[in-house]
Formats: sequence, C-alpha cells, structure tokens
Amino acid sequence: MEIFDSHTHINSTEFKDDIPDVIQRARALDVTEMLVLAYDQKSADVLCRLLDQSEKVYGACGCHPEDALKYDDRYEAQLRHYLSHKKMVAVGEIGLDYHCDVPKEAQFTALKKQISLAHELKLPISIHNRDSIEDCYHILKETNAAEYGGIMHSFNGDEQWAQKFLDLGFNLSYSGVCTFGNAKEVRQAILQTPLDRIMVETDAPYLTPLPFRGKMNEPAMTRYTLEFIASLLKIPAQKLAQATRENTKRVLKING
Ligand SMILES: [Zn+2]
Repeated sequence: MEIFDSHTHINSTEFKDDIPDVIQRARALDVTEMLVLAYDQKSADVLCRLLDQSEKVYGACGCHPEDALKYDDRYEAQLRHYLSHKKMVAVGEIGLDYHCDVPKEAQFTALKKQISLAHELKLPISIHNRDSIEDCYHILKETNAAEYGGIMHSFNGDEQWAQKFLDLGFNLSYSGVCTFGNAKEVRQAILQTPLDRIMVETDAPYLTPLPFRGKMNEPAMTRYTLEFIASLLKIPAQKLAQATRENTKRVLKING
C-alpha cells in the first residue's frame, strides 16, 4: 500500500533535526509521499532544502491568513521566488481564519491576491478555513479559485457544505479530526465525498488522530486516519490508499 499525506508541516520547528527519522517512520507505515506546506520564510527555506534532498516529498507555500497583514508586494515577490522551485506544486495554505484576530478585510485581500498568483502560475491551491466557511465559499466561488485544481485542507464542514465545495471543483482532504468523537458532521461529509475527490492528510504536528491524541502528530499517522475512513466507507484500506494517492497526484500534477 502507498499513502499520500496531502498536507503536513514537517518543516516546522517542532521537528527540528528529526526530519529524516520522521520520513523514515512514515515510510515504515506505507506513507510514501507527502505535500509539505511552508507558512513563513524560515519554514520555506527548510522546505526547499528538504525538496532537494528527499524523493517523493513535494512543496507548497503561501501566506497563511494569520499573517495576512504581512502580505505586500515584497512578500509576494518572495513567494514567487520559492514557487519557482521545480518541486513546489501548489500555493498554500491560504484562506480565512476567524479564530485569529486578523481583520477580515486583510484576510480577503491576501486570499484573493494569492488566488490570482496561483492562476497566473497555473498552480493548484490548498485552502485553510477555520470558522469562516460561508465567506470562504463565496470568495472561492467568485474567483473560480479551483480553475487549476483545489484542495480544501482538513475539511471540517457538513455534508451540505461538502457538496457545495465539490460543485466548485474542490477536492476534500480529511485529517485526524474525522476520528474525534464530536466530528459526526465531518464523518457525514466523508460519506458524501466521491472516491475520485477524496484525500487524506495529517496537518502534522497538529490534529493527531485517535487513539494517539495528546501525542505530536506526524505523517506516519496518515495511516490511522486512512484506515478509519476506509472502515467508515466499508472499503479496503488498500483501495482508499490508491484512490486518495491518485487524486492527490492528479491535482498536484505529479507524474510517476
Ligand atoms: Zn496546515
């Protein structure tokens, strides 16, 4: 079995010098490929080195909504520089986060500018949404955001929202959140997601799946989320691994 973790941050300081071991532990559990997302200059520099050194590790970078106030022409020039790396395959994570206290207008501007950037570069986007699903949906709709491919990362809406984002052309990526006791709506969304539009992810070091909550998350744990979703869908894990991997590679335009 080969599993693709569609959203992880092994470039974050939590992993420091442990990155080769983290990749090793992932491969031991058949998590063979991963998309690593940068969110600031330091994590982007770590990511570029990682892309040069590691096979089957791909990158994305973007300005997280928490940093939307920092987004200006200089920031965008820096982003363009990182995105010119041949293993940078997406813009992200970008989006809206109403849990943080960054003004909405600044978040809207950074999101829209980065959607334009992704369209100009013909790259897919990875979207972060927290407590902002309605506004997020409207911006993604009015900008035809998924034109070159789109992923709703750690999708946490219900089945009606799942259908709306699917209708916009987005793929839905599920994290360890779906294993949580209070995530009934997310499980219903999973049941509504076609097998050719579903992905799995860790969002490591965050969102550790059950039964490992309390422990730091890492890409290897995609395995447990995958097995959980497969049993929910009543299909073999192998079949879900293949489908989610194919979907991720298709959207990120990764060949081989
Ligand atoms: Zn993330």
